[in-house]
Amino acid sequence: MPLLSQDKINRLPERAREVVEYRKSGLSLNHIQGCSLGCSYCIRHTYGLWDENQPRALMSDAEAVEELVAHRYFQPHVTPIQLFNRATEPFLPKVRPHTFAVLENLDARELTNHVLVITRHKLTDDDADQLNQLRHLKVTLLFTYSGIDNPKIEPYPSHIAAESLKLMSAPEVRKYRTVLYWRPLVPGLNDTDEHLATAFELSKHADATVFTGLFYRGEIAEYYKANGIPEPYEGTARRKIVPETLERRVLDAFSSTTALFRKTSCAVSYAHGLPDYNGHVGIRELCDICPLSQLERCLNAHRVPSAEQVRDVARVLPEARELEVVDITGRAAVVSGLWEEQPRYFLQHALGFQVHDERHPHHANRHGRADIGWKGTPA
Ligand code: SF4
Repeated sequence: MPLLSQDKINRLPERAREVVEYRKSGLSLNHIQGCSLGCSYCIRHTYGLWDENQPRALMSDAEAVEELVAHRYFQPHVTPIQLFNRATEPFLPKVRPHTFAVLENLDARELTNHVLVITRHKLTDDDADQLNQLRHLKVTLLFTYSGIDNPKIEPYPSHIAAESLKLMSAPEVRKYRTVLYWRPLVPGLNDTDEHLATAFELSKHADATVFTGLFYRGEIAEYYKANGIPEPYEGTARRKIVPETLERRVLDAFSSTTALFRKTSCAVSYAHGLPDYNGHVGIRELCDICPLSQLERCLNAHRVPSAEQVRDVARVLPEARELEVVDITGRAAVVSGLWEEQPRYFLQHALGFQVHDERHPHHANRHGRADIGWKGTPA
């Protein structure tokens, strides 16, 4: 893999240069950027990286792991890590050796953190063998599957991810866990009864299933328009979109299974027999589809922090100097004074408790999703 020259790195958009970035489900490592699969809704659109269709490294794997573990947001054994989830596909042939190099490096440090690896690529028995060598990390493979068969939207067909999920879930004894990452669910595109029934059949192979909608942000909407792809929504939104009626139909289609989740962290935690690391159990309406044994696990781990504890955890972060704890309930700590999302995720994972920003209120029963498609809210 060619290393980008410093000059080229300097010319990358600012966010793309940030190799370690906190995202909702974990601290994300992205020292390789660029992908050839071309999914139209790719988050790369929002980083100014869409045109990078070949993977390039910004630094060596060893340097990247050093940067990750030395990062002020990283806590050994606590911080969930996401590998190459923002700018490339971890199992592209050129990227795969780097994926394993990072996993092996972290594992050799005897770290037990969750590591989430999201893929839609073809995987092989060799991948299973190599993952089974890891001794400490809690690895979860999340297989992105949508069932969308429009090659303009998804040039790399969804059935490959389905086959990889089956292959990697088949061994009875394995170190890693598998999740069917059923997304993006888009009304009118991949939500017929047949689509739902196919996803349900596929979910039987996985340790857990998450369903989510589409991040339909401005940059992605523009790409849809420019390429003549029918736009699924009239508005764009900060959060993922799952309309209420679609959610009801999904729950009905999956009524005979218990391993269905609305939140990625819930599915990952459940698959490892652990309580949700994002503390979603405070938002109890999220848990109505969860197995009772898992609910109990999450409830047992749930601790409502005091304002002093929240401030204490934040003290190590210079960017949290203006933090104010506005309110604490059994559901979440509401804070102000954080000008970006990353420190908030740090607090949330350090406390195992939901931390919300006063500027972005969460609506009851909306499960942290965008307002579009829910009754009584502006579209
Ligand atoms: S009980 Fe609630 S918080 Fe825990 S995994 Fe289930 S849905 Fe998530």
